[in-house]
Amino acid sequence: SHREATNLNALVEESLRLAYQGVRTKEKEFNAQLTTAFAPDLPLVSVAPQDLGRVLINLFTNAFHAVQQRQRQDGQPAYQPEVTVSTRAVAGGVEIHIRDNGTGMSEKVKAKIFQPFFTTKAVGEGTGLGLSLSHDIVTTGHGGSLLVESEVNAGTEFIVALPA
Ligand code: ADP
Ligand code: MG
Repeated sequence: SHREATNLNALVEESLRLAYQGVRTKEKEFNAQLTTAFAPDLPLVSVAPQDLGRVLINLFTNAFHAVQQRQRQDGQPAYQPEVTVSTRAVAGGVEIHIRDNGTGMSEKVKAKIFQPFFTTKAVGEGTGLGLSLSHDIVTTGHGGSLLVESEVNAGTEFIVALPA
């Protein structure tokens, strides 16, 4: 859809707020420590803001679910859910990093996350479409890439890389 020169810092901040509100509307006692680091020198990038906003909300919502699930598994009062989001100017473009200290993923799960309808969530809690759609929007839609690193019981980092 329609592309325009966009300040990604503002889009990231807005999407993060919406995603956190969405999760907390359902789970009022859920709290995560949110840390943001926005690059002040970020160039404007040509994106479809609505499409990219959907991608970000998907990624943030997944991160909140992952920390929430780990909190439930752990049952340890010392566990502090954390989601850290940063933007970076890099050679050739910009990156958005979304890191959580949630459940993480096994290699087996990680290999399937971009397939449509793949989900590890309970029936009614996940469609398994978020990441497949997000991958499409970032790659086919914007010529970028969507990368992931993850470790079980440590956490996950997604990187949205977009050409300037
Ligand atoms: P859904 O959220 O509906 O399950 P997604 O396509 O968004 O579908 O994600 C697919 C699967 O990828 C999830 O069910 C989960 O197993 C895994 N996943 C995605 N993001 C994370 C994350 N931040 N931490 C751990 N697992 C994740
Ligand atoms: Mg999802």
